[in-house]
Parts: sequence; C-alpha cells; structure tokens
Amino acid sequence: MAVLFGTAGVPISAKQTKTTGGIKAVKDLGLDVLEIEFVRGIYLDEKKANECKEIASKNNIILTVHAPYFINFNSDDLNIVKKSQGFIYQSAKIGWLAGAKCVVFHPGFYGKKTKDETYKTIKTNLQFVIKQIQKENINITFCPETMGRVSQFGTIDEILQLSVDIPNVKPCLDFAHMWARTMAKTTTFSEKCVSEMAKTTTFLENTEKAKEVDGRVFATEILEKIEKTLGKDALKHLHIHMAGVAYNKNGEHNHETLEESKFPWREILDVLKEKEISGTIISESPNIELDAIRMKEYWKKH
Ligand SMILES: [Zn+2]
Repeated sequence: MAVLFGTAGVPISAKQTKTTGGIKAVKDLGLDVLEIEFVRGIYLDEKKANECKEIASKNNIILTVHAPYFINFNSDDLNIVKKSQGFIYQSAKIGWLAGAKCVVFHPGFYGKKTKDETYKTIKTNLQFVIKQIQKENINITFCPETMGRVSQFGTIDEILQLSVDIPNVKPCLDFAHMWARTMAKTTTFSEKCVSEMAKTTTFLENTEKAKEVDGRVFATEILEKIEKTLGKDALKHLHIHMAGVAYNKNGEHNHETLEESKFPWREILDVLKEKEISGTIISESPNIELDAIRMKEYWKKH
C-alpha cells in the first residue's frame, strides 16, 4: 500500500474540463487520484460514469466522489432529510458505477439540538439510506468528513463514533478543518484578551501563546485517536483532505494555498509518514493541482 495524491475536482490546467479530461490531466501532472466534485449537483449520468471508470482504469487513476453540499441529516424539515438521503443514494450509485472507492459528505449542522441529539438523528438518518444502498449491492465506502465550523456536526470524535457504529463508514480526515476548529478555541481566547487586557504585557504574551498549536502534536493526537477507536489497520486505509485555511472564532473561514496559510502541512505530513499510513490525500487548495504536487514532492523527499 502507498500514499496517493490527487485533486478535488478537475485540475485548473486541464485542457478538457469534463471529468474524463480531468482524469487524463491528473495523470499528465504525475498525480494519482481525482475526487469527483458533485458538490453543486450530481452531473454524471450512468453512461458517463461508465466512461470515467474505463478511462480511470486505463490511466491507473483512483477515483473518489464528494457528495453535494446541500446535505443536512439533522434538519427539522423532513423534506431536507429525504433530499439528503437522495443525494447520498445518487452519489453512491453514480460513484460506484464510476469505480470510485468512497463517497465523502458533510453530515449536517447542530441547529438547535444538543450534540447528543444531533449525533443520534444523524446516525439514524444515515444508517437508513446506507442500508437501502447495500440492499442493491452497491459497494462503496461512506466517508463523513471532519468539519471546520463549530456550527457543523463533525468533530473528529463524532466522525470516529459514526465509523464505529455504522458498517462501511470510514472517516474523511480533513486536517485543515480540524486545525481551524482547534485554532478557533485559541482565537476566542485571544479576543477575550483584547477586551480585558488590551494594553498590558500579559495580553501580548497570551496572544503569542495562543498562536502556538504544534502541528506535530495536533496530528499525532488525531492518529492516536483513530488507532484507539478503529484499530491500527484503519491507518492503512485513510482518506484525507488537505488545504491551507484561514479561521476565526467560528472555525474555518476560507481555504487558502498551503504557502499563504499558517496551516502546519509539513509537520502533519511528517507525522503521517512516520506512522506509516496508507491511503489517499486530496488537495482542496484554491490552486488544487499545484498544492497536490507540492505535497507529493515533499512526501517523496522527506
Ligand atoms: Zn468536503
């Protein structure tokens, strides 16, 4: 097993902008994976999905799928829950026909519910649709993603628990999101300092301290959690998202390139390598392919 790198969506430099063109572009760039972005809608039909499967296997490219953004398994509106199940169903079916190994999705928002209630609702609504899909012998892994905003369901603990509770569910580890959520806590801290101790030295010392989230410690804690809850073998089948990210007290604000962000991507890759993980790493930076190549080159050299 190896670690394979790819892009979230068709590379920007691709000459042909359809998914089949994207697969060829990924190959030409020396990358290994394409995550098909159904984020604004499931734009492939069954015939086109079959074509993607053929071209991907000819070019030795792994495919994954990202389901639409409009999913909320915790909505009070039953229509939205039904629609969310429909999006997962359709993403899984088309993804499976395209030969994709997994479907990534954002599970939902807490809204007015408690974290416990949210967990139970999301689990039940997700379980229901996964059972339907499995009855049809559609064989694909479901990957709920760790989310970046504090209003979104999807801490690392919640995502790991879903992976324990529902068969065929595995985490999508978005390290940029997890980091933004972690940093959000330190931001709240420094904002409190601004109002309370604005001109004192303590304030300066504390803000400096708030900036220090060690990338190595952060990544090590996450991998240890995975090993503890899902077992050592889980580290051999990871699906990972990486990107530069800007944050505020609410968590993730926007994606940035790796170079313009303080996101500790090098330290995280170092820890992943030391732990001898296997799996797929998808770049979600605004310059998608450049950062995918940057990470792949860093991985080879270190
Ligand atoms: Zn996502």
